[in-house]
Amino acid sequence: MDYLDLKQQILEKIKANGGWVNAHAHFDRAYSLNDQNVQYIYKSLQEKWDLNDELKKNSSVDDVYNRMVLATEHMLEQGVTAVGTFIDIDEAIEDKAIQAAQKLRDTYKGQIEFKFINQVLKGVLDPEAKKWFDLGTQFVDIIGGLPGKDVGREAEHIDVLLSTAKKMNKMAHIHVDQLNTPKETETMLLAQKTIEHGMQGKVAGIHGISIAAHPKEYRDNIYKTMKEADVMMVACPVGWIDHKRNEELLPFHNALTPVDEMLEHGITVALGTDNIIDIYKPFGSGTLWTELKFLLEGLHLYDIDALVNIATVNGRKVLGLVN
Ligand SMILES: [Zn+2]
Repeated sequence: MDYLDLKQQILEKIKANGGWVNAHAHFDRAYSLNDQNVQYIYKSLQEKWDLNDELKKNSSVDDVYNRMVLATEHMLEQGVTAVGTFIDIDEAIEDKAIQAAQKLRDTYKGQIEFKFINQVLKGVLDPEAKKWFDLGTQFVDIIGGLPGKDVGREAEHIDVLLSTAKKMNKMAHIHVDQLNTPKETETMLLAQKTIEHGMQGKVAGIHGISIAAHPKEYRDNIYKTMKEADVMMVACPVGWIDHKRNEELLPFHNALTPVDEMLEHGITVALGTDNIIDIYKPFGSGTLWTELKFLLEGLHLYDIDALVNIATVNGRKVLGLVN
């Protein structure tokens, strides 16, 4: 029977466009869920930032490498051609993920392009944390950040990231507005700081969930400032769809990056899988189609070409693989 198979159309166009790009992941922790740490799956995000310390201390370079290999093989099966993955670099894991990432890049040379980004689960303001940040930034391709970890001092955190990125002539990927609340204004701060540091076109926000919790006027202001700063955004739709119900009254929205509105403002949006089978996302499958499906359903976004760009060329742009 003949019918219009839009999914098939998207998949074919993605292939013709150079394949899927997974613009945000944490491969060093992928498949790290086990009998010991499964007890942490109901803990808050902030608690989870430190609950992996034991795993990180006990993991050898080979353990980290093997987790990254599993994730990479899963990407290759799907036709993913480029990946941007954060790797933890801090006092708990030291440089083990760096060594594993280097080995991974060598193993898969010619098969998949990697961009490595440093995750800063201890922040960047504490002196010990800053030591590991400085060491990590030497290795990675893109400077990574998590202002929520230095809560109350987000502006200083972003200043450290962007001044470092500028000095090293690297891009920056920064986790922002993850908690789905109008109390967060990190994307706006990131856009303003990007202009202040002259980093236009070199910065991507990761998630930007809380944007949709704000009134329309403020959202439009964010988009205008993002556009002026040429700040891009990576959406990981399954990542935050699990936000818990609460009694706060907000503009109605799903806990998704408001990609439909960003596209209207000409903002570059890419796609990522975020966590795969770890304490953050025990059921995270790392499947790009699932991510795109959640995005298109949750936002009622049926623009085929826009979806294809999000899954392919925009990811390359966010990873600095094309201009
Ligand atoms: Zn992340």
